[in-house]
Amino acid sequence: MDRLTTHPTPYDLVVTDARIVTPHGVRPGHLAVADGRIARILPSGETPPPARRTLRARGLHLLPGVIDSHVHFRTPGLTHKEDWAHGSRAAAAGGVTTVIDMPNTRPALHTVERAHQKAELIEGTSLVDFRFHFGVSPHTVETIRDLSPRVATSVKVFMTGHHTAPDVIHDPKVLARVFAVAAETGIRLVLHAEDDGVFALLDRRQGTPRHYDQYERTRPRSGGIVAVTKIIELVRRYGTAAHVLHVSSAEEADLLAAARHIGLPITYETTPHHLSFTAADTHRLGARIRLSPAIRHSDDQQRLWDALVGGEISTLGSDHAPHTIEEKSRPAPDAPPGLPGVQELLTAVFTGLRRRFPHTSVDDSLTLLARVCSAEPARLFGLDQQKGSLTEGLDADLVLFDPEATWLMSARHAHTKNHWSAYEGWTFTGRPTTTIRRGEIIWDGTSFGPAGGVWLDARNPLATEEPATPHHPRATREPAPAP
Ligand SMILES: [Zn+2]
Repeated sequence: MDRLTTHPTPYDLVVTDARIVTPHGVRPGHLAVADGRIARILPSGETPPPARRTLRARGLHLLPGVIDSHVHFRTPGLTHKEDWAHGSRAAAAGGVTTVIDMPNTRPALHTVERAHQKAELIEGTSLVDFRFHFGVSPHTVETIRDLSPRVATSVKVFMTGHHTAPDVIHDPKVLARVFAVAAETGIRLVLHAEDDGVFALLDRRQGTPRHYDQYERTRPRSGGIVAVTKIIELVRRYGTAAHVLHVSSAEEADLLAAARHIGLPITYETTPHHLSFTAADTHRLGARIRLSPAIRHSDDQQRLWDALVGGEISTLGSDHAPHTIEEKSRPAPDAPPGLPGVQELLTAVFTGLRRRFPHTSVDDSLTLLARVCSAEPARLFGLDQQKGSLTEGLDADLVLFDPEATWLMSARHAHTKNHWSAYEGWTFTGRPTTTIRRGEIIWDGTSFGPAGGVWLDARNPLATEEPATPHHPRATREPAPAP
């Protein structure tokens, strides 16, 4: 960094007197930005260097920009629910600077060509940087071999379906093939781990739910437990890297922790809504918190909080999956599962940490969030040489966060296209006051910056680490010719 220490011209931006959340602890200081990157981090004893723009941050924490590795921005085909202009504004207002979008659009993201078309559709409309999780259907398994790190380093598998997710892998032989091909190709699977066979069997006896308060019973934990058990067996067999999404129950958390303990390359995510709500809230909130997987009970919720604080959970994903208010107002069997959440992710979980773990310091709570919301998603999906921590040389993706702010969440704060939030009426603790993407302010607390988000390139994390057993990943191989 010698080149930068003697920086000849003023820096583009300097943030002064922040409590800087670095991978090596929280330290008071200044952070200088040049050419979109973090150029210098200085201790507070030193004089801040000259810069074209100075943000005074006394009393605020400076965090790495959040990488939300689980959003549904609904492009193409479902843009009445959400689009990148609105979704990325909601992201910026929530301190998110990078999103990884899910493939269950219309059409679904099942070919490399569609990934390039999708990036073209988004370009110029997104405030935040982006990547994609690729999709797979029973007919496109071999297409996984065509993936380059440019297109995706991960493939989403649906083991059950719902309104916007028709491409379910039902056949155990096909599912095994997906795990085998992913292991051979060096691709991480991200999984909606609920077993469709379990739900189909239950539906034959009890039918579809007539009321929201029956929803959890008709989409119970047994679906998740069976699916997670199958995943563990397949990872054991093929050595596939697997990241289980939106884990909702204590039993799944126990199984995944045990699998990790014996050295299997399995990680998992939970969501702010599974940490924030319980099935009892369904009586009050109805379809707003009809989700897939369902919201479970307070024991499950406590297990997930303990897993988060105890380091078992690798990532928090918002599962931002908006629908219109009209769609959510339909009778119980037809209301689609999902809620907007990219904006609430950081604040909702910080609020929960402050209330449930009042003896944990603000510094420690934010250090934990920097790990699960930035560092780990960057590492799992190949972005850690560009993003994920406040480290000199990485992209200047920054969030100024006021941990003392107390504010009432209401629909008028919600920037998602359909302007509603399951957290309406919540008193939140903590608030992102400024969000900066590659040195550019994209949210200043009242207005948004330019839509300069780009489709990021990545490295393949499985090409250099976690050598899969028993198969060796062959991530650097040439793409196979199209069948
Ligand atoms: Zn999702």
